[in-house]
Amino acid sequence: MIPDLSAAIRNNDLFLHYQPQVTADGLTLVAAEALVRWRDPRRGLVQPAQFVHVAERNGLIDQLGCWVLENACREAASWDAISVAVNVSPLQFRRHDFVDFVTRTASDAGLDFRNLELEITETSYFDDPARAEDSLRELRALGIRIALDDFGVGYSSLSLLRRLPLDKIKIDRSFVAEVGLADGAAIVQAVVALACALGLKVTAEGIETVEQQRFLAACKCHFLQGYLFSRPVSATELTAYAERLRDPRDGRRSGGDEPLRAQDIA
Ligand code: C2E
Ligand code: MG
Ligand code: MG
Repeated sequence: MIPDLSAAIRNNDLFLHYQPQVTADGLTLVAAEALVRWRDPRRGLVQPAQFVHVAERNGLIDQLGCWVLENACREAASWDAISVAVNVSPLQFRRHDFVDFVTRTASDAGLDFRNLELEITETSYFDDPARAEDSLRELRALGIRIALDDFGVGYSSLSLLRRLPLDKIKIDRSFVAEVGLADGAAIVQAVVALACALGLKVTAEGIETVEQQRFLAACKCHFLQGYLFSRPVSATELTAYAERLRDPRDGRRSGGDEPLRAQDIA
């Protein structure tokens, strides 16, 4: 797989899908998360769960991360009032020139820093806490937002939320899947309340049902992401989705039970 992946990065056989992040009422598109895919002639469509860790273990993550950031910034530069969220591997984050690399890439693409969000995981912090804090402070001072992805899955301690300069946490979908159970609901409610008390925004991932949306909205979770609103889609489909949401003539904006889905539009 390694030579093929290396060639795919060089030959542009990767592409990005974008998954909408909407306000808790489902009516406003605020951001989209860039999710990488690989179209391989022999393997077909390869999902990131199958190749990102291969890139990480075999010295390809810099090239892959570079490709993703460049392309996400370039596509997002033409979006109107929608931010792009880009996943950052801990190995990329460890680069000594990481802050320069990000700011140079966004500037070259013409993307306003305020429209860029980086999704990091707690591992990025534990590798070298002092340096991580410095890098995150520098990025935030420039207007780039930082989200802690997959919150609650690893060993994320609560003190991390105080120590790390963050804007947002993303509650992992494994927690969202359990909000129908009493203890699952209590955990999510407590996490949202804690994050809000610390001045952080919260995005809940993996929203698949209207019941989950209602629960998270009642908890005062700020943003939602999940198949209920849209699967990850192409940049063109994302733009069509944004236009339909903005269009007041669309009946679904005004409170129908079924949300508008990007995959049903373009
Ligand atoms: P993630 O950053 O937590 O991204 C969310 C994943 O959950 C995406 O899977 C998305 O398609 C999936 N998802 C979203 N909503 C739902 C839902 O309602 N139900 C279910 N069952 N799944 C949902 P995807 O695209 O396969 O990405 C998996 C992981 O691969 C990402 O998790 C991220 O950790 C990593 N990844 C993706 N793109 C990149 C990238 O460009 N760079 C790096 N370093 N990692 C990436
Ligand atoms: Mg993510
Ligand atoms: Mg996540």
